[in-house]
Amino acid sequence: MLVIGGGATGLGVAVQAALEGRSVVLVEARDFASGTSSRSTKLLHGGVRYLAQGHIRLVREALRERAIVLGLAPHLAQPLPFVVHERRWVSWAVTAVGLKLYQWMAGRLSLGPTEVISQQGMNAIAPVLPGTVAGVRYWDGQFEDARLALALAQTAQAAGAQVRNHVRVVGLVQQGGAWQVGLQDAWTGQTATLHANCVVNATGVWVDAMRQLALAAVEAPKTLQALVKPSQGVHWVIDRALLPIQEAVLVPHTSDGRVLFAVPWLGSTVIGTTDTPRHDAPLEPRPMAEELAFLLSETERALGVRLRAQDVKSVWVGLRPLVNGGSSGATAQISREHLIAREAPGFVTVTGGKWTTYRSMAQEVMAALAGDLPVPERQAHTQRHTLFGAPQPGAQPVSLRDAPGLHLLGSQAAKVAHAPGSEESLGLGLTAAVVRHAAQSEWAITVEDMLARRWRVLFLDARLAARMAPRVAELLQQETGIDPALPAFLALCEQYQLPASYC
Ligand SMILES: Cc1cc2nc3c(=O)[nH]c(=O)nc-3n(C[C@H](O)[C@H](O)[C@H](O)COP(=O)(O)OP(=O)(O)OC[C@H]3O[C@@H](n4cnc5c(N)ncnc54)[C@H](O)[C@@H]3O)c2cc1C
Repeated sequence: MLVIGGGATGLGVAVQAALEGRSVVLVEARDFASGTSSRSTKLLHGGVRYLAQGHIRLVREALRERAIVLGLAPHLAQPLPFVVHERRWVSWAVTAVGLKLYQWMAGRLSLGPTEVISQQGMNAIAPVLPGTVAGVRYWDGQFEDARLALALAQTAQAAGAQVRNHVRVVGLVQQGGAWQVGLQDAWTGQTATLHANCVVNATGVWVDAMRQLALAAVEAPKTLQALVKPSQGVHWVIDRALLPIQEAVLVPHTSDGRVLFAVPWLGSTVIGTTDTPRHDAPLEPRPMAEELAFLLSETERALGVRLRAQDVKSVWVGLRPLVNGGSSGATAQISREHLIAREAPGFVTVTGGKWTTYRSMAQEVMAALAGDLPVPERQAHTQRHTLFGAPQPGAQPVSLRDAPGLHLLGSQAAKVAHAPGSEESLGLGLTAAVVRHAAQSEWAITVEDMLARRWRVLFLDARLAARMAPRVAELLQQETGIDPALPAFLALCEQYQLPASYC
């Protein structure tokens, strides 16, 4: 079985299939989670706003999955309290009732009580929030998305899957009941052909391009309806000191009726996101001027912080693969439910959904392939198969709200703590030993692999990432002998900064 795409969705399928005892290969054109899966708001959530839209089944499923993922990788996924501040008593009462219902729906999987908080209480939690009459606290989860994706890749590999990053599918033809797949290695340019009984197209917002490739012989490409409608989300990151929140803050009504989060994450504060429909799906999308203007005005209006360009440490953009609902305009109204389509024997496309539900989506993908595959050798039990690197039960995990450190490597941290290079500090908790470990054991090849996803410096502080990059490039090149693409990374660091003229 071939899985195309190393984001949350494809990696989840690879883990499920490998644990069932199947022969699995996963290929990722760039790096694991380099698409949407490293650019999320990093919330493991049931979806409070989907509850408001009446998507009860979706919320129930996500609440169950939230609890499961928290147990699979406690160093990378943890409960997080959220406060909602309201400026009018009526909306406060509606929010309190809705969030109580959310807790009730979670039942015994609830992560903590929903509580009303007085105005004084709110001031103690987030002293700068303007105009609050009272608030409500509720619980969801938070995670480190890029490293969770890596943990899935490592788990799939440990279960027998062959997992490759920087390998792109360039051709896909059905021949004699099997699929003949053309692969190309990004670094050597070498091509190879692989034969698979089944192909899972898990390429996120790019699934339609892969469908065109695979189904061209079956259907005229023009008759293929697009399954995905990309929606762009922008986050920016500021110093925790500028918005000293201890808990995540949900702004339920922005000036245009959307929700906005401010989340303490890896020592900084992440603010986002926007929701803007677009018709194309660039690999490295850029923020639009109106999105930046929205974040700037809402950070001031709802969170009480007036920012200057240099206060914004990093701006990152992700494309949400919304299942094409046929409606135009407001993408925030389209349900996040996923879609699984078997359009040819042994060819399944899976897209949409959310990070939180990667595991249940993977189970459904395997069910959709039941007629194409033999009965599995064994049950996968992914709900209790802890992910690679999960610490021993009982170990007290370090909070994801704290600055990055070796704790993010979970059970692998001990290996690196005293390895050669551990005394050479590169910034933001990164050491030369961690870079060497990432090259040897975590598939890191480029500076971007290292500083964007193995260690989240690009996402936390793009200027610092540019300063750290040359030494990281040297270390990677020593380990792999491959050009780590330093100039391309330095250009990316520029793109993740706000131009000085902006605010
Ligand atoms: C702004 C934003 C915030 C979000 N926040 C949350 C959140 O807080 N919580 C939550 O649960 N969900 C969240 N989501 C949703 C979640 O991030 C996505 O649903 C999920 O990451 C999608 O994963 P994926 O694997 O389907 O896609 P991707 O992560 O995009 O993976 C697809 C992969 O396919 C690869 N690929 C493409 N073409 C080829 C090819 N030819 N050969 C090989 N590989 C190929 C790409 O390189 C890419 O890595 C958010 C989404 C966005 C946009």
